[in-house]
Amino acid sequence: MKNIAVIGAGTMGNGIAHTFAQNNFKVHLIDISDAALEKGLATISKNLDRMIAKEKISEKDKTNTLNQITTFTNLQEGVKGTNLVIEAATEHIDLKLKIFKQLGEYCDAATILATNTSSISITKIAAITNRPEKVIGMHFMNPVPIMKLVEVIRGYNTSNEVTEIIMQLSKDLNKVPVAVNDYPGFVANRILMPMINEAIETLFHGVAGVYEIDTVMKLGMAHPMGPLQLADFIGLDVCLSILNVMHDGFKNPKYAPCPLLVNMVTAGKLGVKSGEGFYDYSEVKKAEKISKQFM
Ligand code: NAD
Repeated sequence: MKNIAVIGAGTMGNGIAHTFAQNNFKVHLIDISDAALEKGLATISKNLDRMIAKEKISEKDKTNTLNQITTFTNLQEGVKGTNLVIEAATEHIDLKLKIFKQLGEYCDAATILATNTSSISITKIAAITNRPEKVIGMHFMNPVPIMKLVEVIRGYNTSNEVTEIIMQLSKDLNKVPVAVNDYPGFVANRILMPMINEAIETLFHGVAGVYEIDTVMKLGMAHPMGPLQLADFIGLDVCLSILNVMHDGFKNPKYAPCPLLVNMVTAGKLGVKSGEGFYDYSEVKKAEKISKQFM
C-alpha cells in the first residue's frame, strides 16, 4: 500500500498528508478549493521547516516529502489508483455520507475507506458505501506529525483483515495504534470531552477564571495543556459537535454541551482558528486578562 488519498487539507488533513508523505507514501491531497490546498501545503512546508530547525530532518527530506504530495480539487480524479482513502473533511454527518457514497462509486473495489471523524458512527458511514467491511475509523491526534496515537475504530461490519492492515500501517508510520469499537465518542473523546465540558461549566458558574481552571489542571494534574486551551486548539465548533453526537447517541444529559460553549460557537468564537476562544490569539496571549473578562 503506497498510494493514498487524503480528503480535506485542514488542520488534520494536512497533518495526515505530511505524515504519510514523510514516510514515502504517494499522497493525493484533495480539497474543495485551490485556496484550501495552498493553505494546507503552506502549513506542511512551515512544519517541515520547524523540523529542519530542530535538526530532525534535512532540506533534502523536506523536498522529498513535498514532492510526494499532489493536490486535487476533483474527488473522482484524486482517488483514482489509490489503495487507501482517509477522509478528514469538516465534521458534518451529511457531508461525510455524501463523500463516502461517492467514494464507493469512484474507488477500486479493493480500496480501503477510512475516516478521521472524531465522533460520527463508522457503522453509519460504512452503511452508505458498497463495501462496509472495508470502512474503518483512523482517528489521528492533533498535531498529527507529532502525536503517537492512532485510535483505530472498527465499525460493526469492519473485517478483521482490514483492521489488521490499518493497525500495521499505523505502526509503519511510527505511530501506536489502539483498536476500539464503534460507540459515540469512541474512547478518546468519550473521556476527553466531558472533562472539557465540565471545565467550561466551571467557568460558566463563576467558580474560577480561564487562567485559574487551566492552571489547576496543568500544575495539579500534570496535564501539558489546560482543558480550556486544549478546547481552543481542537476548535470549539468541533467540541460542540462531538458533545452533541454523544448526547444524541447515549440520550444521557451528562453529555449536554454547556450553554456557554453553545453561545461562543454561535458568536463565531471558535478558538485558535478564528483568532479567539477562551484565549485571545490576535494579541499577546495574556491569560490573566482573559480570566478577568469572564469572572
Ligand atoms: P478543518 O475545518 O480544519 O478542515 C476541514 C477541511 O475539509 C477544510 O479544508 C475544508 O475545505 C475541507 N472540506 C470540506 N468539505 C470538503 C469536501 N466535500 N471535499 C474535500 N474537502 C472538504 O477541520 P479539521 O479540524 O481538520 O477536522 C477534520 C476531521 O478531523 C473532522 O472529522 C474532525 O472531527 C476530525 N478531527 C479533528 C481533530 C482536531 O483536533 N481538530 C482531531 C481529530 C480528528
